[in-house]
Amino acid sequence: MQRLRSILQRIDRKGYGAYKDLQGSYDLGPFTLFVDRVQRDPFAPPSLVRVRTKENGFEGALFGNGTRRVAFEDFLTRAVERALRRAVRGNRGSGGSGRMEIQRPSQVVLPRSSMVVEDGYVEARMAVGLPARGRSVDARGAEAMLLEELPRVVREALLPEGVDSRAARGHVETVEDADDLRRQLPGLGLVAYVANGAVLPRESGASDRPLGEGAVPFRSPEEYRVSVTLPNGGEVSGMGIPEGVTLVVGGGFHGKSTLLSALSWGVYDHVPGDGRELVVARRDAVKIRAEDGRSVAGVDISGMIGALPGGRATTSFSTPNASGSTSQAANIAEALEIGTSLLLVDEDTSATNFMIRDERMRELVQKEPISPFIDLVRPLYDSLGVSTVVVVGGVGDYLDVADRVILMEDYLARDATARAREVRDAFPARVPPGGSAGDVHAPRGRRVRASSIDLRRGKRETARGKGMHTIELGRERVELSYLEQLAEAGQTEAVARAIGEFAAGNRSRGVAEIVRGALDAVAENGLDSLGSFRGHPGELSLPRPQEVAAAINRIRSLEAAT
Ligand code: ADP
Ligand code: MG
Repeated sequence: MQRLRSILQRIDRKGYGAYKDLQGSYDLGPFTLFVDRVQRDPFAPPSLVRVRTKENGFEGALFGNGTRRVAFEDFLTRAVERALRRAVRGNRGSGGSGRMEIQRPSQVVLPRSSMVVEDGYVEARMAVGLPARGRSVDARGAEAMLLEELPRVVREALLPEGVDSRAARGHVETVEDADDLRRQLPGLGLVAYVANGAVLPRESGASDRPLGEGAVPFRSPEEYRVSVTLPNGGEVSGMGIPEGVTLVVGGGFHGKSTLLSALSWGVYDHVPGDGRELVVARRDAVKIRAEDGRSVAGVDISGMIGALPGGRATTSFSTPNASGSTSQAANIAEALEIGTSLLLVDEDTSATNFMIRDERMRELVQKEPISPFIDLVRPLYDSLGVSTVVVVGGVGDYLDVADRVILMEDYLARDATARAREVRDAFPARVPPGGSAGDVHAPRGRRVRASSIDLRRGKRETARGKGMHTIELGRERVELSYLEQLAEAGQTEAVARAIGEFAAGNRSRGVAEIVRGALDAVAENGLDSLGSFRGHPGELSLPRPQEVAAAINRIRSLEAAT
């Protein structure tokens, strides 16, 4: 403590660069402070510090297995975030002076690099804007931040006496239950589960927090009720969605998209209070949407789309500008390539001519290369074992291909399978669906060229995330706004670094192989191993294989090796 104080006194009022002398580690009583990287000036990205407690005094049950450890790290990150808000004064001068931050988690629980819980310590990684007056060192401000505010944050968020142990236990147990429930799905023949009492609607289109007032809690129709036993919560009842083809129907604004969206987020665990704690789906579920304008690099979409105009083959389909329907077909092919057991499709975000082609159009337009999705859902399940949950309000023909029909009415789910059969028999479709589907298969053997990604084309060599929806690769910006299951910017950053490593490797490899290689290495060596860092890698979250692949597939310069 004395050493830190005397360095600060020595550099007071000197040029900002004198802060470089802080680099190193300091014993601050119950914890050690590591100053890993010092910013160049008050306007540059903040300095990076770690605080590591001298022991881990938390009860062992909070981090006794992998799932619990991740959940507890998530809990502590959020605790630090709250403590920072309480303890840190904030603005203390020019630029980022006075700011102190930790990675900001979304509503989901993920492995992150912001917090490390080991048997012998806990360590938080933070960013600190070292304070300046103009462009010179403000030693008194720095002393207040590092020797008063920071120790208070440690006391309130990283030491057992400051942490609400009941909340911590609840957090860990909630996550463990969700994880357990998700693991039970295949054995129960289910692709998704929505517990009774779950709150699905969100605060607004821009917020992932639960709707406060007026939310109608979920209640399972009798027909789909499944009881499960969870390690902490005991017996729970709710709606199990079986494998196969499930239709969600209902009038506009009755809660169809809300249900589907909750299922798509069910691939992740949620924090207590989210409302979707026990809404889970198979971990590899992929929401499929139209995305016209995206690029496609050598994807085999021949199972869904026949020969294109000019006789262009679709076994290796490339375009810088896909249409609504071809983009949706490519999205499915790529989901099959990386691996999925559940597709989620919403009419709201689908291309009409991808969903359906009616009888008259089949008659009028003979040269239609695209098999509409209605012709694909059965073969997808019957030959590939890939289930579908599809929301349709307006296309009754889907009744012919569904194993079951869930009707949303006033935000309540009802089983409408029997009624749908009656309707179907009373109004038979004249063209039986399935006719146009060829041999639906996962794409075969595509490899992509690392050399097509040029990280040096830009001002400096880069592969990094910019917010949640963009990755910068040299001069190229990869657009990820349509990845509806990307949860937070930390995942984007991790994906960017994984792509950077592949690009540096300069070999051609299959996309699934690239993704598996990167994520296996992370599983083995931790998120910290993703790329090289100046300072600590405190802002990474673990992405799913599906999102890593989706980002690679959206690189415009990407070329398939032939
Ligand atoms: P649909 O897709 O059937 O047209 P949405 O799912 O978009 O309907 O829902 C319409 C509106 O109703 C949204 O504003 C949504 O937040 C709200 N909503 C959905 N489910 C519920 C619920 N269980 N309780 C209260 N509001 C809900
Ligand atoms: Mg909708």
